[in-house]
Amino acid sequence: MSAQRRPETRADWQALADSLSFESRAFIDGDFAPATSGETFTTINPATGERLAEVASCDALDAERAVAAARAAFAAGGWSRLAPGKRKKRLLELADLMEAHKDELALLDTLDMGKPIGSALGDMAGAIACLRYNAEAIDKVYGEVAPTGEESLALVLREPLGVVASIVPWNFPLMMTAWKVAPALAAGNSVILKPSEKSPLSALRLAQLAKEAGLPRGVFQVLPGFGHTVGKALALSMEVDCLSFTGSTATGKQLMQYAGQSNLKRVYLECGGKSPNLIFADCKNLGRVAKHAAAAIFHNQGEVCIAGSRLLVENPIREAFVDEVLAAAETMQPGDPLDPGSFMGAIVDEAQHRRILDYIRQGVEAGARLRVGGQALDGPGLFIPPTVFDGVTPAMAIGREEVFGPVLSVFGFDSEDEAIAMANDSDYGLAAGLWSQDIDRIMRVTRRLHSGQVFVNNWAGGDQTVPFGGVKQSGNGRDKSMHSLQEYSELKTVWMALEP
Ligand code: NAD
Repeated sequence: MSAQRRPETRADWQALADSLSFESRAFIDGDFAPATSGETFTTINPATGERLAEVASCDALDAERAVAAARAAFAAGGWSRLAPGKRKKRLLELADLMEAHKDELALLDTLDMGKPIGSALGDMAGAIACLRYNAEAIDKVYGEVAPTGEESLALVLREPLGVVASIVPWNFPLMMTAWKVAPALAAGNSVILKPSEKSPLSALRLAQLAKEAGLPRGVFQVLPGFGHTVGKALALSMEVDCLSFTGSTATGKQLMQYAGQSNLKRVYLECGGKSPNLIFADCKNLGRVAKHAAAAIFHNQGEVCIAGSRLLVENPIREAFVDEVLAAAETMQPGDPLDPGSFMGAIVDEAQHRRILDYIRQGVEAGARLRVGGQALDGPGLFIPPTVFDGVTPAMAIGREEVFGPVLSVFGFDSEDEAIAMANDSDYGLAAGLWSQDIDRIMRVTRRLHSGQVFVNNWAGGDQTVPFGGVKQSGNGRDKSMHSLQEYSELKTVWMALEP
């Protein structure tokens, strides 16, 4: 493959994979180094079982060093007090470097967690767009002058928070990273990133690029390692001002406790979901809608926080609609993640593979009707095909709990009120979808859905301009848009007395 030509075929991607060398050390205070303890953990390609790298396993000692470096950098002001326009320039340089290396970055996520390369390339486009959006925005954010009388001048200033620890999951490794890190850096904070222990490689490559882009020492650091060691240490630190987290609801609850036990740091949570997708009988073109409904759950092997995992179908069309979903699912089988034609890839690791198969077993035992899938594919690699259960009830585990795999639960409903009640009957409230041609119904139902985002006649639509986040136990933060940028700054009120 020539240096100029972008990889196109499976063989091209394999050749690029064979040529890669992985950075596996932690990035602390501007340098790459092993964990202080010398401990490592193994990261594995779930599509092949192949060992990719032994990665530094950071712990509380490394967290302490990184927090001290982050604080020192913040106090020095080389980033925190830099004119926003200059931060913008540096971040745009980083975005350009990411663009130049996007194939490699995408490939790292594919190798590390099993997602198809086509999908990983889409994530890179999202990550780069997020960095550019926040970089471009930061020198357009103004403070306020309050409407006081002539005897005073009152200013409301926006200042960076200080040290932000970003703890992210494995399902969209670099894109989730960008959603946290880009606004926090743009706002002038020092950021410590803890990637998931299941997908640390792209974050470490990003650290190399950040160094190349000239971000000052201590402003951006990456600590690979486990949640209960380095993650917990960051969350309990008295010197971390904000935790911005994407991951499971269970971990999110722990982080709130850690904040309460330590310094009441801000905690922004983007957690799990069990999102309902409502199909009304008046929706147009059942075949097309069914394809979207299938992609809503099977994209990224179902390992998506906003997966449309609960399909609620109006009973008169349910039989026909489910048949169409099955036909669509047939075209979405898992394949080699390096093959640009694959729609689904491998499940991230053995624990997640077991968990998904266990949910499928529970579904069968609870009496749901297994229409397709349900069995793991023969190895090598961890692959589960699209699995559809009909006749699911809210009492069943597959109908209530987040499976985080390619498992769709179908429910029937007879009225709009019943559909809304079923949709809202969940601990989660991350996303919901509804398909109908009736604008009055669309607005009625949209307003009554208890959800951070509602997709009307599409699934997962959105770009940088709109906030992404949930209500209830799906979390309290918002990624993307100006709303996320604002989360990473503090308001300071200045009241000046004037001689009238
Ligand atoms: P997870 O909660 O197991 O881990 C997420 C991160 O938290 C990892 O980096 C992990 O090491 C760390 N962690 C775990 N325990 C910790 C502790 N005690 N202290 C500090 N850090 C700790 O979640 P996961 O399995 O990596 O990701 C899947 C979950 O993420 C799903 O529930 C999914 O819905 C959710 N998710 C949500 C969004 C969103 O925007 N709402 C996006 C993607 C994923």
